[in-house]
Amino acid sequence: MEYLKAVLNSDKNKEITNLKKLIQTGKKLNKNIKKYEIELNKYNKEKATTPIKIIKRKTKTNTIKKVSKNKITSSSKYTIESVESRNNMVIIDFKTKISKSYVKFMEKKVNNAYQDIYDIKGNFKDAYPTKLKINGVKQIVIKQEDKNTLRILFEDNYNLKTIYFLVNDKRLILKVLDIKNSNSKSTSTKNTKVTYRPGLNKVVVLDAGHGGKDPGGIGPRKRYEKIVVFKVTKYLESYLKKRGYKVYLTRNKDKFIKVRNRTVLANKKKADIFISIHANAIGKAKAHKLKGIETFFLSPARSERAKRVAAKENGSDVREMSSSTKRAFLESLNRPRITASHKLSIDIQRNMLFNARKLYKDTVDGGVREGPFWVLVGAQMPSVLIELGYITHPEESRRLYTKKYQKALAEGIANGIDSYFLKNP
Ligand SMILES: [Zn+2]
Repeated sequence: MEYLKAVLNSDKNKEITNLKKLIQTGKKLNKNIKKYEIELNKYNKEKATTPIKIIKRKTKTNTIKKVSKNKITSSSKYTIESVESRNNMVIIDFKTKISKSYVKFMEKKVNNAYQDIYDIKGNFKDAYPTKLKINGVKQIVIKQEDKNTLRILFEDNYNLKTIYFLVNDKRLILKVLDIKNSNSKSTSTKNTKVTYRPGLNKVVVLDAGHGGKDPGGIGPRKRYEKIVVFKVTKYLESYLKKRGYKVYLTRNKDKFIKVRNRTVLANKKKADIFISIHANAIGKAKAHKLKGIETFFLSPARSERAKRVAAKENGSDVREMSSSTKRAFLESLNRPRITASHKLSIDIQRNMLFNARKLYKDTVDGGVREGPFWVLVGAQMPSVLIELGYITHPEESRRLYTKKYQKALAEGIANGIDSYFLKNP
């Protein structure tokens, strides 16, 4: 009881003291005190980090269940922005600053059920009849008790323990302390692994750049861009298929395809994302200097660097583009798609680089860039263009021609795609 009191008063020092006491007496009585030890450890860790970081760490398992992010009538004085459950917590975000006085706690025993009830000063539009889920807890119900009171009720057949924290004066975290079924944690992780595949039902169109009469960039020892990008595309295809994605290729052999026809397939297949794969090139004067991985997404922005790369990748048939194609270019650019493409670029670039550096620490990060790439024009989905490296750089082109490096890059791209769909299902 001392411990719970400390918890409810948000007195961390007292919480820790009481946890230590519980552990000590528990040891003497030969009781199972593991849960308290775990709890104490968490506090010790939490001390060292900011509250936001704690939350981020806990969201690593994919059990997030968003209940609502809907906006609420701004007329209410105590507006709640969102309520959701993550792992063993219920998280309530307020629109305005709050204090401890916003929370009232009650314990009840109804027949065989134990209840922890939190009455929170606030108004949440989607409160009733919403049920939240935390593994190991029989039920959690949120409802608007009256106009300015949101009730969160935890119920189970054992005496459950819950606590709350206030984070940054805007977020309330209600946490279930010791879930009775000690196996529940491992079961939930297992479930996640079995049931969660980000690639399920996702359609990806891969576009290996150039082909046929168009070799793309040419490096030393007649290393061709069109060959490298095709190899990586094929590895990527097999990795993605293994992970449950539906994958289509714009070319499945060494064949010339017009730039403007490359997105046609993606639209026809209603792809979720479109990925065009290339290798960079630069004139002899700079060939020894320039190397590294870059990921581009389509935007009207025209930095010098993006202009140069775009000019190269836009290809030989760019002059054929009619004014209607150019109109399509402008029409295809809407803000949400640019944002999604940007996010996808970041995930791909990061993972590709990570994998590349496992083999070659000196791999250069060319970063994520935006530019006017015709090959991405008309794609009605988030789309990116990857430059795997410089085919003109003596050492990088050598690496690009090895199976080991091609596979590493392909796996990195696949991981980036997974990561993107994890965050943007
Ligand atoms: Zn290219």
